[in-house]
Amino acid sequence: MPDLARWLDQIRATGGCAAPVHLAGHTTTLASDTGEVLRHYTTATEPGGRLAVRCRNRRASRCAPCSREHSGDTFHLVRAGLSGGKGVPDSVRTRPRLFVTLTAPSFGRVHRVGVCHPARRGRCEHSGRHGCGGTHSATDVLVGQPLCTSCYDYPGHVLWNASAPTLWKAFRVFSSG
Ligand SMILES: [Zn+2]
Ligand SMILES: [Zn+2]
Ligand SMILES: [Zn+2]
Repeated sequence: MPDLARWLDQIRATGGCAAPVHLAGHTTTLASDTGEVLRHYTTATEPGGRLAVRCRNRRASRCAPCSREHSGDTFHLVRAGLSGGKGVPDSVRTRPRLFVTLTAPSFGRVHRVGVCHPARRGRCEHSGRHGCGGTHSATDVLVGQPLCTSCYDYPGHVLWNASAPTLWKAFRVFSSG
């Protein structure tokens, strides 16, 4: 199989992700003044015509390698925040510590562990159902998925995540000033 080496590269690059997202397409970077092509990449020459990227799911039931990486990253971030390192000065040790939980807005109802949304308020016009009414275990693949994919605000979800760095920056400026 002539593509084998590149295929193995992709698996290595995704850290053995159990459910990689496969991207297909191309990207071209041009110099804004001269129009010269600085970089061009297409998945057409990749094995199967697609590029695998890791799913980055935090839940071990979905993807053990990605959830392990996430918990490892979190450990190092928290440690650096408390004792310095990774670009954080050692003087951070003498500062007050706050453990702040920031909750993103909701973009629609999703299935949850335990007794899911009981069938009461707001029947959805697409599914014709009230809530879910089921009971889900922590490993149920439905958990975290929208109750109704038509009602769920996917554009809002995507835009909020795309704007998260800007929101975070504004929050830090506000909270430190
Ligand atoms: Zn993964
Ligand atoms: Zn449910
Ligand atoms: Zn709906």
